[in-house]
Amino acid sequence: MQGMAAAGLGTMAGVGPAAAPRPMGSAPAAGVGTRHGARAPQAIEERFDPWVEVHPDALAHNVAVVSRLAGGRPVLAVVKNNAYGLGLTVAAELLARHDAVTGFAVVKPEDALRLREAGIEGEILLMGMSPDDAVRDLVEADVRLSLYLDDDARRLPARAGSDVRIPAHVYLDTGMGRMGMPYHRALPWMAELAASGAFDVRGTFMAFTEEGDFDREQLARFRGVVDQTRARGVETGRLHAASSNGVFHLPEAHLDAVRPGIALFGSYPSRPDEERAMAELRSAVSLRCRVVRVERLRAGDSVSYGRSYVADRPTWVATLPAGHVDAYPRGAVEGARVVIGGRLYPVIGAVSASHTIVEIGEEPTVEVGDVATLLGGEVDAVHPNAVAEASGASVYDLLMHLDPSLPRVVT
Ligand SMILES: *Cc1c(COP(=O)(O)O)cnc(C)c1O
Repeated sequence: MQGMAAAGLGTMAGVGPAAAPRPMGSAPAAGVGTRHGARAPQAIEERFDPWVEVHPDALAHNVAVVSRLAGGRPVLAVVKNNAYGLGLTVAAELLARHDAVTGFAVVKPEDALRLREAGIEGEILLMGMSPDDAVRDLVEADVRLSLYLDDDARRLPARAGSDVRIPAHVYLDTGMGRMGMPYHRALPWMAELAASGAFDVRGTFMAFTEEGDFDREQLARFRGVVDQTRARGVETGRLHAASSNGVFHLPEAHLDAVRPGIALFGSYPSRPDEERAMAELRSAVSLRCRVVRVERLRAGDSVSYGRSYVADRPTWVATLPAGHVDAYPRGAVEGARVVIGGRLYPVIGAVSASHTIVEIGEEPTVEVGDVATLLGGEVDAVHPNAVAEASGASVYDLLMHLDPSLPRVVT
């Protein structure tokens, strides 16, 4: 253990040529939290087990990029699924500092309420179901509900308490077939919602299938319903449709506001190479841990379950205490690499629940206690898109499955 911290800190500062020195030990993190409560920042400096770092500068950069791509339209930031792994309230608090971000969208009622409890003041849109027993709390917290069920005009006011106009967005299904009122049934239903007088409709929205030409057809369907509704004097509020894919590839769908998630957090939604050429994003999240074992294999020695790696010559290997339970993909053995001390090392053997093994090579250039970066922004090879691609995984799965119980450190 002696010298562990020093070795670890030196490694941190040295990760990647482009990384500004930001030793973890010198500046206490601006904030640390887990889903289950706060933890002292010092714990991270001594910690071997994985932790998640959230980078405000990268978030600021990505907000600016998205806002520019969207022609300055307001950004409704999607922070569902633990804000794509960053941590719901940690991410929302950082995003809320930017004027371009005018509100937040989530899928679960509990997340909407947690945002308010954390002091988030902007617009909060619940894009999911509002169960009967949650309606009153949601309305009291000024969460905007999504209207999409046939009986919403009766059900929701009955649950909201008397005399409140329920803040809401109308959710239209234009071909996604997942959520929303089917567009071909929407007109009389929207008229009924308006006639009830129970709703304060602030927006109307839809989601794309993200399937090239069909997206344009979906947009035309959406426009058709909105135009006819407005022609009848019914309020639709602000229109929004574009997720990150639409922000990049469908300018005509930017409408009154955009609704991206993954791009804000620094990963590319659909075609990373093409999107990077349009606008460079920075990963706002890193997954790191400290090396717990360094050993020399003899020729013929094997590594991990199934003996899928057998050394054909003497070589050093290091064990990291992070595995697929933390969201590091099992497929990482297919070509993903890890940064330790500014160098890249390949993942070998098998990714197990709590351990990953990397090959160091002929020289023991890694020590117990060195910081390993499995995901991050400083080196292209560990950018979440690169790790996802090398592992045959979806970058969405990778980020959203980052274990919510790991500490989040803002740095
Ligand atoms: C997840 C989601 C988004 C954001 O998608 P990204 O691809 O992460 O930008 C937007 N709208 C809806 C309805 C969603 O479910």
